[in-house]
Amino acid sequence: MKQHYSVIVVGGGIVGATAACALATEGIEVALLDVHNPIRTWPEDEQADIRVSALTRASQNILTKIGVWDAMAQRSVGPYDQMHVWDASSAGVLHFDAADTKYDVLGHIVENRVTVAALWDQLDALPSASILCPAKVMDLTCDTDKAEIILEDGAVLTADVLIAADGRDSALRQMAGIQTTGWEYQQDGLVATISSEKSHQQTAWQRFLPEGPLALLPLKNGDCSIVWTLKHETAQEYLALTENEFLQKLEQASEGVLGNILSVGPRGAFPLRFQYAQQYTAEHFVLVGDAAHAMHPLAGQGANAGLLDAAAIAETIIQTEQASRPMGSHKSLRRYERWRKGDNLAMMSSMDVINKMYTQDNEAFKQLRGTGMQVINQTNLLKNYFNQYAMGLRDDLPELAN
Ligand SMILES: Cc1cc2nc3c(=O)[nH]c(=O)nc-3n(C[C@H](O)[C@H](O)[C@H](O)COP(=O)(O)OP(=O)(O)OC[C@H]3O[C@@H](n4cnc5c(N)ncnc54)[C@H](O)[C@@H]3O)c2cc1C
Repeated sequence: MKQHYSVIVVGGGIVGATAACALATEGIEVALLDVHNPIRTWPEDEQADIRVSALTRASQNILTKIGVWDAMAQRSVGPYDQMHVWDASSAGVLHFDAADTKYDVLGHIVENRVTVAALWDQLDALPSASILCPAKVMDLTCDTDKAEIILEDGAVLTADVLIAADGRDSALRQMAGIQTTGWEYQQDGLVATISSEKSHQQTAWQRFLPEGPLALLPLKNGDCSIVWTLKHETAQEYLALTENEFLQKLEQASEGVLGNILSVGPRGAFPLRFQYAQQYTAEHFVLVGDAAHAMHPLAGQGANAGLLDAAAIAETIIQTEQASRPMGSHKSLRRYERWRKGDNLAMMSSMDVINKMYTQDNEAFKQLRGTGMQVINQTNLLKNYFNQYAMGLRDDLPELAN
C-alpha cells in the first residue's frame, strides 16, 4: 500500500527535524524518517555529549519560533557573552563582547543531542507530524507528479516534496543523481569535553595554531567542549595519547588560558571536508544542511547554515501552498535554491580562506595577518560587521530567523 504525505523529510538530525517541525507547526502533513532513533534521555550528571554546536542568535530565533528553545534551555544551553580569538604566530587578537551589541549574549553552546531530543519531542506533539523510525530508504524516483521512495521493509511512500537531510554522505543526493564538488582538508576536528582550573568566563576562546584552530567552548556546567583542528595524522596520534599526555598538549596549545586542564572525557575525531552539491533541487526534491554543503568548523557555522536552509525551505513550501500553487514543482523549489546557495557558498568560502590564511608558514604573511586582526579589533565598524555576521544576523533571512 502507498502512503502519501505533503512532505517527507529523510534524516532527523538538527536540520531535518527543524524543517519537519517548521512545516508541521503550520499544519503541513509531514513524515520524518531516520535510520536511527536518537537518544532523548540521559542521566542528569552524565558528561556532555562530545558533539556540540555554537548556535547563533538567528538559530535561536528559529528554534524559539518553532517552540523548542525553552525545552532545550531546560535541558542545558551554555550562553557566551564574549569571544576571544588570538593567533599563536603573531600579535593578532580579536575580542567581541555582547556589551557592544543590543543583545545580552553572543550565542549558545548546545550539545547536539539536546537540540535533536527537543525537536523530536516537539514532533511527537504535533498532529501533522509522523515519525517513521527506524526507516532506511532503498530507492528514490522523482517524476513530474511526485517523489516516491521505497523503504527497506518494502513500504512505498510518496510526497509532493522530499527533503533530503541525511548528512554530508547523503544517499538520497546520490539517488537523485546530484553531483558534488569539494575536497578533503586532510585535517580532523578533534572533540572532547574538558574541565579546567580557571573559569571559562562565559567566553568562547579560539587560538589559531599552525595546524589549525583550537576552540574552547563554554558549557553551562562550567566544563568546556573543545574542537581542535589538527592534521589528520596528529589528530590520530593525540587520540592515542594517555590522559596526562593529552592534557599537557592541550595546556600548551591553549596557552594556559584556562589554567591547568584537570580532566578530559572520551575523545573523537571527525575528518573535515569542503563539499557542496551542484544543485540543491530537482523535481519534488530538495537538499538541506550537510547533504547540501559541508564546511570547515572553524567558525562553527555548519548547523547554523543548515537551520537557515530548514527555515527557508519551510517558508518556501508554506507560501507556495498558501498561493495554491503546486508545492513540489521545480520552479517553486528553485526559489529556495536561489535564496540559500549563494549565502552558503559565501560562508563556506570564507571559512576556507580563513583556514588557508592561518595555516600559511610565511613570516611576512603572519605579520600581515596579525596587523589585519589588530585593525579589525580597533575599528568599530568592521568589528560590528563581523560580530553581526557571526551572530547570523544578516540581510534576507527567513522570517523564522528574524
Ligand atoms: C568537529 C565539528 C564541530 C562542529 N561545530 C559546529 C558548531 O559549533 N556550530 C555549527 O553550526 N556547526 C558545527 N558543526 C557542523 C554541524 O555539526 C553539522 O553541520 C550539522 O550537524 C549537520 O546537521 P544535519 O542535520 O544536516 O546532518 P546530520 O547531523 O549528519 O544528520 C543526518 C541525519 O540523517 C540520518 N540518516 C543518514 N542517512 C540516512 C538514510 N539513508 N535514511 C534515513 N536517515 C538517514 C542520520 O541518522 C542523521 O540523523 C561542526 C562539525 C564538526 C565536524
